Amino acid sequence: MEDCIFCKIVRGELPSRKAYEDEDVLVFHDIHPIAPVHLLLIPKAHVASLADCGPAHQALLGKLLLLAPRLAREHGLTEGFRTMINTGRGGGQEIFHLHLHVFGGGERIPKI
Ligand code: 5GP
Ligand code: ZN
Repeated sequence: MEDCIFCKIVRGELPSRKAYEDEDVLVFHDIHPIAPVHLLLIPKAHVASLADCGPAHQALLGKLLLLAPRLAREHGLTEGFRTMINTGRGGGQEIFHLHLHVFGGGERIPKI
């Protein structure tokens, strides 16, 4: 995807603070963190949102979810963390390349 910001980060055309990378997944720090630790876990291959995923994405989605506690632990979130996927404009999604937010640390996150 030519103009997608996160695809540009994957291709190295835009800088990011990387936290993890493998053949399928890239993890980097959110540019506007809402907590002391705020990571974005993305597939390297472009998929616009969770609503655009199908059975072919099952393993990828499992991989992203299972990476969340590992990366949270590695970033010192011993008390826990929150995961979030915004989907579509109605769900508050601003970047239309699927991403899993993982954040926490500092003050206790308000209950939602
Ligand atoms: P969304 O609202 O789509 O779920 O979240 C998009 C997130 O991407 C936001 O938290 C925003 O701060 C982050 N973001 C937007 N542009 C960039 C960027 O160029 N680099 C990084 N690291 N994060 C970004
Ligand atoms: Zn993309």
